[in-house]
Amino acid sequence: MTQEFTAAPRWYLVNNMDKIFEDLKALADEYAVITKDEPMNRHCTFKVGGPADYFVTAGDVESFGAMVRYARSNNIPYLILGNGSNVIVKDKGIRGIVFSMLNSEILSGRVLFDGLAYAGAGAKMSTLALECANAGYSGLEFSGGIPGSIGGGVYMNAGAYGGALGDLLYSVQILGEDGFMKEIPASECHMAYRDTRFMKTGEIILGAKFKLKEDEPQDILARMKELNEQRRAKQPLEYPSAGSTFKRPEGYFAGKLIEDAGLKGFSVGGAEVSEKHAGFVINKGGATASDILALIEEVQEKVYAKFGVRLEREVRVLGE
Ligand SMILES: Cc1cc2nc3c(=O)[nH]c(=O)nc-3n(C[C@H](O)[C@H](O)[C@H](O)COP(=O)(O)OP(=O)(O)OC[C@H]3O[C@@H](n4cnc5c(N)ncnc54)[C@H](O)[C@@H]3O)c2cc1C
Repeated sequence: MTQEFTAAPRWYLVNNMDKIFEDLKALADEYAVITKDEPMNRHCTFKVGGPADYFVTAGDVESFGAMVRYARSNNIPYLILGNGSNVIVKDKGIRGIVFSMLNSEILSGRVLFDGLAYAGAGAKMSTLALECANAGYSGLEFSGGIPGSIGGGVYMNAGAYGGALGDLLYSVQILGEDGFMKEIPASECHMAYRDTRFMKTGEIILGAKFKLKEDEPQDILARMKELNEQRRAKQPLEYPSAGSTFKRPEGYFAGKLIEDAGLKGFSVGGAEVSEKHAGFVINKGGATASDILALIEEVQEKVYAKFGVRLEREVRVLGE
């Protein structure tokens, strides 16, 4: 009987670790950085998660594209990471390759021209927002305090205070099936509330362009400052977390439901429902991914039992 694998089986990965490492190094350009058994708690804001077999900080598009083609053609599982601010990496880590876009020398560039801002997937949303504000371009103020990358922001359609990246999107550059760059217009990106085309297709985002409006830099900066102050006042930024744990259920607020269910301060191991903002699960100290996931499930069950509302996780779960 034959068995089909969508990705390389575990024994293949274990027996070929050195070969895969050498193959990746051969495809890397001078900017790419490749490590083995990389602890993932260093790369996500929740500060949990076991090791990734291979961790590649992407270099230029050609070398990155070649590595992705290599992984695809050898059925080696891979995933893309931005700033790790919306993920829980499980305690046994990630099998296969993690391609990190953050700090990629090439894929973090930013350019502003004629009211269109371009940023590479590895650029921080906060950096782009601040640079545009200083240059007198408005629109991205809401994103100034979101701790993610442009790639992660577009993938998630990150938003806050009534704005979302999808509202400003002009186009997205992706790595096509053939491993080369392709540009798709915003109208084909299906940007909705925490929902995008990219969640369904798994396409790799290389960069995005946003349409902005001209305004006075000091006015834009003042708006950003105010929003960041609101964030600091309301959110438990002093603890590791992944921001709002759940999506906003239609007609409700997740944090309010959790608070009304009496779950503020409720904990499993080192994971806790924040006392400051019940919509955040925080790592109070020494939490494991299993603690966080068990807590999330308990919260979902208790809120459903009390209010009949199913809370859907916004945070993505990676690894095994
Ligand atoms: C304190 C705090 C506050 C937050 N506040 C907000 C908020 O106000 N609004 C909000 O929307 N979010 C918020 N978040 C959540 C998070 O910052 C956003 O979802 C952000 O968009 C995630 O970006 P990232 O680069 O960290 O993505 P990651 O967490 O690294 O990845 C998230 C998902 O995107 C995929 N991905 C990442 N990059 C790419 C790419 N280049 N191509 C394809 N797929 C990719 C990953 O595979 C993963 O599935 C907050 C988080 C924290 C910790």
